[in-house]
Amino acid sequence: VFIALEGGDGSGKTTQLGILHQWLSESGRTVVRTREPGGTQIGERIRSLLLEHDQGEVDPRTEALLFAASRAAHVTQTIRPALQAGSVVLCDRYIDSSVAYQGAGRGLGTEDIAQLNDWATEGLQPDLTVVLDVDPERARARRAGRTGGEDRIESSDADFHARLREAFLARAAAEPQRYLILDAEDSVEAIHSLIRERVEALL
Ligand code: C5P
Ligand code: MG
Repeated sequence: VFIALEGGDGSGKTTQLGILHQWLSESGRTVVRTREPGGTQIGERIRSLLLEHDQGEVDPRTEALLFAASRAAHVTQTIRPALQAGSVVLCDRYIDSSVAYQGAGRGLGTEDIAQLNDWATEGLQPDLTVVLDVDPERARARRAGRTGGEDRIESSDADFHARLREAFLARAAAEPQRYLILDAEDSVEAIHSLIRERVEALL
């Protein structure tokens, strides 16, 4: 069983994966928890390459191809072998993040990025993709509260996040049976129990 968690920055993916991992392990499942970019030696090197540059410094197509390259290695070396061995694979970000960040956020086009990644993964889709939905306005208000004010960079940032949100929701709307959209503002416990309900049905 392959489960991916998606959502904007600070939506609580990592927290939810931790709790889900613990619950699955305690119920006797073998769990492989992984993340993107990363999850393999080459993937972790691509991750450092991407993260050591400031956002916007790597041109968008190069960035999209690096994410796709990392994902191809991840699927071949980590995810498919784990699934074949009967493990539950929990992945922090997958194709939807590329469609959202590079396709919608950086403006490369969601269709092209979806196609590139379907090719990179040979069409491997999660059995369940959980989208932790964050209202970019609320996220912006929180960020403005933290930094003590809003400037032009902050508002264009909000626009970027609005595009991400729209892209995640559009992907989910196209395949409702494979997605679970949750309000990231709900409590950690409430979100976990809704995820658990869907995961139980897959096991
Ligand atoms: O998931 P995590 O927070 O570790 O992601 C690292 C960074 O990479 C985040 O700042 C996220 O905005 C960015 N990212 C991206 N494009 C993706 C996936 C993540 O720009 N496809
Ligand atoms: Mg995270």
